Order: sequence, then structure tokens, then C-alpha cells
Amino acid sequence: MEFSTDRFYAEALDAVDPLKTFRHRFMIPDPSMIYMDGNSLGRLTSAAITSLDEEIRYRWGDRLIRSWNESWYSKSLDLGDRIGELLGAEPGEVIISDSTSVNLYKLAWAAIHYQAGKNNILTDDLNFPSDLYILEGLTSQNPPWKVSLAKSADGLTVCMNELEDAFDDGTGLVCLSHVAYKSSFKYDITEVTRLAHKKDTLILWDLSHSAGVVPIDLKASQVDMAIGCTYKYLNAGPGAPAFLYIRKDLQEQLQNPVQGWFGARDPFAFSTTYSPAKGLRKFLTGTPPILSMSAMEEALSMIRKAGIDNIRKKSEAQSEYMVSLVERWLVPLGCRLGSPQEVSKRGSHISITHNEAYRINQAMILPPEGMPVIIPDFREPDNIRLGIAPLYTSYQEIFDTIGRIRDIISQKSYLDYSNDRKGVT
Ligand SMILES: *Cc1c(COP(=O)(O)O)cnc(C)c1O
Repeated sequence: MEFSTDRFYAEALDAVDPLKTFRHRFMIPDPSMIYMDGNSLGRLTSAAITSLDEEIRYRWGDRLIRSWNESWYSKSLDLGDRIGELLGAEPGEVIISDSTSVNLYKLAWAAIHYQAGKNNILTDDLNFPSDLYILEGLTSQNPPWKVSLAKSADGLTVCMNELEDAFDDGTGLVCLSHVAYKSSFKYDITEVTRLAHKKDTLILWDLSHSAGVVPIDLKASQVDMAIGCTYKYLNAGPGAPAFLYIRKDLQEQLQNPVQGWFGARDPFAFSTTYSPAKGLRKFLTGTPPILSMSAMEEALSMIRKAGIDNIRKKSEAQSEYMVSLVERWLVPLGCRLGSPQEVSKRGSHISITHNEAYRINQAMILPPEGMPVIIPDFREPDNIRLGIAPLYTSYQEIFDTIGRIRDIISQKSYLDYSNDRKGVT
């Protein structure tokens, strides 16, 4: 099919979409509402409601403390293995624990203590602020370590030269987001990992914006460490705990800076001194949030069923479609594409920039009576971020979203909205 700006074209693409039935597995209480923020908080699946309900009524309500032995105690490891399958890790290389930010602290701490004699963590200025804050805090607590930033020349991407130039003799750890939260720029994990190893450093990838939507093979790429969210493309729900990965042969050499009883060799020995568990379990700290883990399993089996390569294929097709509409309709109205032009350099969201981005966002979220509600998000200073979640985003939704932005800008209806920022944008 030739690209067309006709709505029938979007309908035709939906009709032949091999993943179209997956949308029925999600709770969509208002089908007219267009959700373009699955990269920030994935939609709820019907299966998650069932598993949460069972967890609450049966395991908590009926089985009570017996559930620890029956299922909860090994859940962080069991679910970690399931995520590991998706990421190309071996059993025992991934666990679920804490939040992404906390896991970053734990693994970066472990890495710099392993890299004695070095003094520099390399990251980039496209990285998620929480990641930068964590690294800043960690290095200020561990002199002479410091953070150095590879700078993006165009504000959207970091090329291999820019990254390579930012290494120095003290670089002991490279810590990057696989997909940049704002521009959607995607690094080549294998290539950057190879560069890090050539420079004799460890690498720690944040997979928050790629896990569940971009194929990843940690083993083939020889990644040392990784962390990531489960509430974005993994649909595990708000505040669901994160995952962390350490390759097998590095595990015994790294230590958890927050050594709690869940990471001890035998928590129920109640010994007065700590000795770490074998393997990755030592990276646990305290009692895990069991209820927040219970939506994960079903979401993972859905992704397995759809196939991560098929998910990526649809994501690429949809983002190319979106970019074509942006170029046709929005660039003439003063927008710019805030993401790389080349699909292989992008994750699964698209950023569009406009100097009235905040008010355009508000006009989408709070439309006049009779217009569909569209939910993107806004990232300072001028980004409208549109998340494509191939398991439930349709081509018609993409068509309607870009068409609506075009109308808001050309009719200047954003002028009816305030520019005062709300707490969560
Ligand atoms: C979403 C995201 C996080 C979130 O961290 P939390 O600790 O869950 O708040 C961290 N890093 C990146 C790159 C993200 O995209």
C-alpha cells in the first residue's frame, strides 16, 4: 500500500495488522479515548485484574503467611527468570527488586567498588534525570569518583564518536539508557558494549524505555549489567518493582551496598551477622511488594505470545507512519520531529517539538465537549511525547492524534489553555 493521508488507509492497516487481537486483552473502558502514553504507564490487562484479585483474596486473604512458602518467597527470582527470557539472559541472571532508580544505585555502587583504581562514570546528557541524580549522588559519596557526560551535538542523538571521545583513562563504568526518554534515540547495545569493553570498562544499561518493545539479547551483546522498569511496556502497573541483571560470571565479584535479610544466605537463620546469598539473590534487600508483582506474569506471557520481533516490526511500521503524518501535517505548522529520522535509531515513541507544546498537550487531554480525549505527555521545554505500544495502539489512533494536533495548532485552540505546569506532566 502506498502511504496516504486518508483515514481509510489507517483503517486498512489496522485490518491487516497481525497483532490486532492483542488489544482485546486490555481494559479499554472508554474506546474513544486515545492513549499515547504507554511508554510511561502501560495499560491495564484484564488478566492483571484476575491475578491481582486472586493474589489478594486467596493468597493474602485465605493462605496468609503460608503464601510465603507456597509462592511469594521465590517470586522475585521466578519472575526475574521470565523477564530474563525476554531479554536473552540465562536463568539466575535477572531478579525483580526495588525501583529502577534504587537498582541503578546498587549496581553502579557495586561496579565502582569492583573497578578500584578508576574514578569516572561515563553517561550522556540525554539520560533520564533520575539516572543522572543517582550517579551524581553516588560519586559525591565515593570520592574521587565523578560523572562525565557525553554531549549530544543535536540534542537528539549521541553518535559513536561523541561517545568514544568522552572516555578517559579513569573511566570504570559506562551507564546509559538504551532508548532516550525524550528523543527516543536508541543506542546499538552490541556496538556500545563492545566499545566499553575495548576501553576496559564495565557497562550498565537502563532498559526502561526498551524492555518489552525492542528486541534485546543481553547474552549475545555481552552486557555486564542492566536495570529497567516493568510498568512501561511491560504493563505491570504503577509502581511495580523493577528488574536488575548481572551476567553470571560477574555476580560473585559484586556486592550489594544495601545488605538486608532478603539477600542473606539464610534469612530465617536470624543470624546476627550478614553473609550474602549465592548468586543474584544477594541483590535483594527487604520484603518485596508482592501485590505489585502479580500483574507481571500475565503481561510477560502476552508479550511472549505476540513475539518480541513481531512487536518491534509493528512498532517500526507505526512510528514510520506517524513520522510521515508529522512531516505532512505538522512540520508546515512549525513543529519539528524531536526524534531521529532513521527508524533503526528509534525506540517506540516519537517526540514532536513546538514552542506551544505544553498548551497543545493540555488541549489534547482536556478537549471541548464532543472531541476525543487524547493522552500524550509533555517533556520540558517543548516536547510532545507520543508513545506507541504496538499491543494496543492502532493506526487509526495515530491518524487521529496527528490530525488533532494539526487542528489544535492551525485553529490556535491551544490559546484557550493555561501555560501553568501541573505537578505531573
Ligand atoms: C522510567 C524510567 C526510570 C524510572 O525510575 P523509577 O525508579 O521507577 O522511578 C528510570 N530510568 C529511565 C531511563 C526511565 O525511563
